[in-house]
Amino acid sequence: MSNWPDNIARKAIVDFAAYSARGGSTGALHLDANESPYAPPPVKGAEEYNRYPEQQPPALRQRLADLYGTTAERIMVGRGADEAIEVLLRTFCEDGQDNILICSPTFGYYKTCAQIQGAGIIDVPLTKDYQWDTAAVLKRAKTARNLKIVFLCTPNNPTGTVINDNLVEQLCEACPETLIVVDEAYEEFSSLPSYTTKISSFQNLVAMRTLSKAYALAGVRGGVAIADPRVITLMLKVLPPYPIARPVEKAILAALSPAAMSTHAARLDEWLLERERMFTELQTSPFISKVWPSEANFLLIDVKDDETLMRELARRQVKIRDYRSTTGHMRISIGSPEENTVALKAFGIALPETRPDRIGEVHRTTKETDISVRVNLDDASAIKSDTGIGFYDHMLESLAKHGNFGLILTCKGDLEIDAHHTVEDCALALGTALKQALGDKAGIGRFGFVMPMDETQARVAIDLSGRAAMTFKGEFPTDHVGEFPAEMCPHVFESLAQTLGAAIQIDVEGENTHHMIEASFKGVARALRPAFARSGTDIASTKGVI
Ligand SMILES: *Cc1c(COP(=O)(O)O)cnc(C)c1O
Repeated sequence: MSNWPDNIARKAIVDFAAYSARGGSTGALHLDANESPYAPPPVKGAEEYNRYPEQQPPALRQRLADLYGTTAERIMVGRGADEAIEVLLRTFCEDGQDNILICSPTFGYYKTCAQIQGAGIIDVPLTKDYQWDTAAVLKRAKTARNLKIVFLCTPNNPTGTVINDNLVEQLCEACPETLIVVDEAYEEFSSLPSYTTKISSFQNLVAMRTLSKAYALAGVRGGVAIADPRVITLMLKVLPPYPIARPVEKAILAALSPAAMSTHAARLDEWLLERERMFTELQTSPFISKVWPSEANFLLIDVKDDETLMRELARRQVKIRDYRSTTGHMRISIGSPEENTVALKAFGIALPETRPDRIGEVHRTTKETDISVRVNLDDASAIKSDTGIGFYDHMLESLAKHGNFGLILTCKGDLEIDAHHTVEDCALALGTALKQALGDKAGIGRFGFVMPMDETQARVAIDLSGRAAMTFKGEFPTDHVGEFPAEMCPHVFESLAQTLGAAIQIDVEGENTHHMIEASFKGVARALRPAFARSGTDIASTKGVI
């Protein structure tokens, strides 16, 4: 089809020329957009706020293309996936003539946008088990007249179920004049692969992704449609000229910085464990008759004792989504472990009192380094350091392992210059994260000491006093271990002491630099272990604060 996708788009959209607006700065003298030549008064990072942004800011578009494993020309960035839905309707559906197909119960905004645009809605409901009726969907799609868009949401909101056959591919082939839109707002939570990699095989396939759910950016508004470049070109005619405000672009790029991805992954792991816990625990609730398995970050539940449950939820100020009047069920999002525990109480599930894990997260981005650190003082099961300096990773992982805390650390540093910035900034960020995790320090041991280490001796004493102090005694026989400069060893502990707020005293003797550095890290780790360990709630100070 040479005129794809013009043959299915609204004629008015195909015929008009896109609104012409300059956004961004070409380096020329810009007297073409009635902008102010002045940056606004002191707002941090506001240098370019006086200039219109580009419709599709190139750096953002490229970052999202990389994130979703596609190319920039196949991406339309908008204010959330919601805007992508709206633009699809406005680009392809003629008022009073064209139709969309949905499989209810599903995300309500497809219907809303269709109604606003005046498009008809064909509904092929999910089966009783909330699965897609593949044969029925194919049949209706093939026979319907003027069917412009099929919206398939997988994992589906609100059921949490996923398409697990080749319905999408079959539809793409059977209905060449219809856009098959796969809404993957919850893809990150699913065990199935994304459809984004199939976009290049089907010119009528569209995938939608959002930063609002897995990437914690609902308040920033960012989402994409991924499709054949010709479909994207048409959609960009309908998208307003400047949908992405400059601070929004900055916020998204910062939250998706390469180093931050390891923190997103660690959070996702925890989130999925919580989904598992909620799925299991909720089944024991006296108010629930069924909990549906889910591949998203929410669970669909059938409730039986409505009134008591509603009272309990209100009493504990827990809000869940109520669909009882339409589909007879409710939907609960998976929150943090602490939030979930509160919710479980409202569902009448008595849990032994547990204290939340002490977690610290730090993101630190400078011109030299981009760092993301996540520590968990109460769960050492996940330990991974990725700084680009092999020996340093080995030392940091050893620090966490012997210190008995979880550590996920990623650093993208200017190693082409040298190791200095990376080593120092990671230590600073780690100290900050540990301090954050310690919180009010209730119940901690505060002090730690260790002595011997093979033929090398490291004597270490630590006090998590809140005051920074570091002394290091030791002479290294060589100046490097791998790419790691030996002189950075004391500097690491200096930086750590500074941001952690600790007194660290190290005295190391030996004949081999590798062993001496390793003994220092392990010694500090072993001393930190009893200092971090928590028992009871006492503050280990006569002053009542540390
Ligand atoms: C939340 C959600 C969206 C909208 O996401 P935004 O990017 O925040 O607009 C789209 N589709 C489904 C199925 C959703 O649940």
